[in-house]
Amino acid sequence: MQERPTANQRMILLNPGPVTLTARVRNALGAGDWCHREPEFAALIRDINLRLTQVHDSLAQDYLAVTLAGSGTSAVEAMLASFAPDTKTTLVLANGVYGERMQRMLEAHGKPCRLAGHAWTDAIDIQAVERCLAADPDITHLAVVHHETTTGRLNDVAAIGRLCKARGLTLLLDAVSSFGAERIDAGAWNLGALAATANKCLHGVAGLSFVLAHRELWAGPAMRAGSVYLDLRAYHAAQHRDGYSPFTLPVQVAFALHEALLEHAEQGGAEARRQLYLARARRVHAVLAAGGVGTLLHPDEYSSVLWSYQLPPGHGYAGLHDALKAAGFIIYAGQGDLGRQIFRIAHMGDIQEADLLRLCSALTDSLPDSLAAQP
Ligand SMILES: *Cc1c(COP(=O)(O)O)cnc(C)c1O
Repeated sequence: MQERPTANQRMILLNPGPVTLTARVRNALGAGDWCHREPEFAALIRDINLRLTQVHDSLAQDYLAVTLAGSGTSAVEAMLASFAPDTKTTLVLANGVYGERMQRMLEAHGKPCRLAGHAWTDAIDIQAVERCLAADPDITHLAVVHHETTTGRLNDVAAIGRLCKARGLTLLLDAVSSFGAERIDAGAWNLGALAATANKCLHGVAGLSFVLAHRELWAGPAMRAGSVYLDLRAYHAAQHRDGYSPFTLPVQVAFALHEALLEHAEQGGAEARRQLYLARARRVHAVLAAGGVGTLLHPDEYSSVLWSYQLPPGHGYAGLHDALKAAGFIIYAGQGDLGRQIFRIAHMGDIQEADLLRLCSALTDSLPDSLAAQP
């Protein structure tokens, strides 16, 4: 068996969630043994749902959150199951693993859908989207990933949202790796709903995820969810009646999410977190660029949350990963065909200045050949 890292060995997780926890959030996990069907837990969930709508100003007025047990994928699937129409068509805009996954979910739930597929390294082509819309008047909903973690690209949801607003289309957003850090302008985007998770930009623990949807969607006609567990209307009915949930929630994970939400707000909210991640991105990029390591995308195309870098010639991912792991850092491989081409570094979680300094020298040490190749 693999040797387990010991509890006091500091591991900095540079994978796109789960993240390195702050001591405060980790301590919250041990807050006690609560029953999920007691009023104190119901009150905690109601407070979490309220605070989730306050993470981005544009969501505070008109959106209501529900929390469910499961990873980010469960929230995205629940959103599509509960809000993608049964008789009209949802157009999925995909330029990575997570966009393509949304199409698979719609198909699995028997919901009419079309795919505007793109190469994973391409930006969403708005003119191609307009052509799809012109060709199929049944399209009433657009589904897209805000930050496509496959590459680190921050999709231009402002442009996609303008299109939705102008044409009265409902936007369903996978915001799993952007919620809490990237800018979300719900009104301008005609946002119907978004899905996200506790353990990415919010710095909570994996196990809870959530969907925020416009009041009109909650009040509107129920879609055929095609699932008992993922039918968000059951969560909405229960959590917004008294705070109870249809199924068991992970109590300790909720303690941690609540604490993470308090910490997020105290540290200045989503914009402060975005700036924090951007500062980390610049530091890492500067070190790698100095070592001759290129980015997969143009630097302007990246989110604050995660960047992807070209594996230098002669370096496999495994060697780089293992060298960095030995130094206390976990990086992330590329997915699919990108597995042989790139590595990814996320900037989320409790990364202190001392950690960043160690990371920069560990990166330099791990890439001696490419550095040596520099004049
Ligand atoms: C992480 C992520 C998900 C969900 O992944 P899980 O492994 O289910 O948490 C979905 N979409 C995006 C964009 C992600 O980054």
